[in-house]
Amino acid sequence: MNSYQASNKLEDQVLEVIFKVAGASPVKLHEPTFDGNEWTYIKECLDSTYVSSVGKFVDKFESDLVDFTGAKFAISVVNGTAALHIALKLSGVKDNDEVLVPALTFVATANAVTYCNAVPHFVDSEETTLGMDAEKLREYLKDTTEQKNGMCVNNLTGRVIRAMVPMHTFGHPANIEGLISVSKDFNIELIEDAAESLGSYYQGKHTGTFGQFGTLSFNGNKIITTGGGGAILTNNESLARHAKHITTVAKVPHAWEFSHDQVGYNYRMPNINAALGCAQLEQISSKIKSKRDLFKKYKSEFSKIKRIKLFEEPKQSESNYWLQSIILEKDQVGQRDLILKKTNDAGYMTRPAWNLLCDLAPYRKNPKMDLTTSKSIFLSLINIPSNFKP
Ligand SMILES: *Cc1c(COP(=O)(O)O)cnc(C)c1O
Repeated sequence: MNSYQASNKLEDQVLEVIFKVAGASPVKLHEPTFDGNEWTYIKECLDSTYVSSVGKFVDKFESDLVDFTGAKFAISVVNGTAALHIALKLSGVKDNDEVLVPALTFVATANAVTYCNAVPHFVDSEETTLGMDAEKLREYLKDTTEQKNGMCVNNLTGRVIRAMVPMHTFGHPANIEGLISVSKDFNIELIEDAAESLGSYYQGKHTGTFGQFGTLSFNGNKIITTGGGGAILTNNESLARHAKHITTVAKVPHAWEFSHDQVGYNYRMPNINAALGCAQLEQISSKIKSKRDLFKKYKSEFSKIKRIKLFEEPKQSESNYWLQSIILEKDQVGQRDLILKKTNDAGYMTRPAWNLLCDLAPYRKNPKMDLTTSKSIFLSLINIPSNFKP
């Protein structure tokens, strides 16, 4: 590593910092860690034979999520995408509606809209939060929509804009207050994609608890994992009951009879996954602490490099720092791929942000607003290793 110290090249300097903080390679972007009761609970689950759809860990995991997030209800499901699908459906999103989603998000946010036969409509993000830009959205809606029968109608397409799905990017809370105000003023439902932000707070309140629904993911790369899994959060009791029912094949409870009162989904979280989730959630505070500590370590090193800054939580928020991000200065974006190549070749997994969804084959023709900031974030941001044992 000494050979890099004198280097003027940005990619060498970044590699040097990551080496200094993360130690010898290989280091993944986000490796799960299992330091608690995982084995105990999974053994207990196997011993009980209730590995599948029923069992006490599902109930416990849901009530632990309620305790941790402060949402009134939590419904666990097979993955975060399924959680979004059901949250959208129960928010009344239907055929030929439009749903506002950030262009800068994981593809699942838009796919879940498509599963409802609705149309993702792409919105720009802001540099301060990496989330949807509330003020720019307000101006855009003022110019391009009108209210008809209490609904927001897109003048260009004639379709109803039924919902918006802000996402808390890499764990950093979006400007949820501004977005809620836009959603109220334009009669648009708000669902938070909080897949990345378990343990992140906006003005002291947990992300995913502001909108009609919030959704979580417990995929293997998230801050806690159930292998695969997700959850729907809501404060509305009847919506919570409906969400539980529709994600458990809409079976009417009965001692032996198979009666289903609507087309349901087999989206329930298996008990064995919930067992893992219970053990993981017990450790959430220490996971968040170590991520916030890692941010500080990276910060003290990256502050020595001029042409880069480490992304910091927005002012009004406390972030879980799920993925650490470096942002290149505008005149340095040409260096992004050199940095990605150098670090990955050296065994340190780094990644660019997602390709903007409006550039993906299934979404190329979708409605969108000006996306200048999303494009510039995409070109200048790199995620660096964010979960490793020192
Ligand atoms: C992970 C993720 C999802 C979906 O979660 P899965 O559990 O993988 O289906 C949705 N949205 C965002 C922003 C995510 O990062």
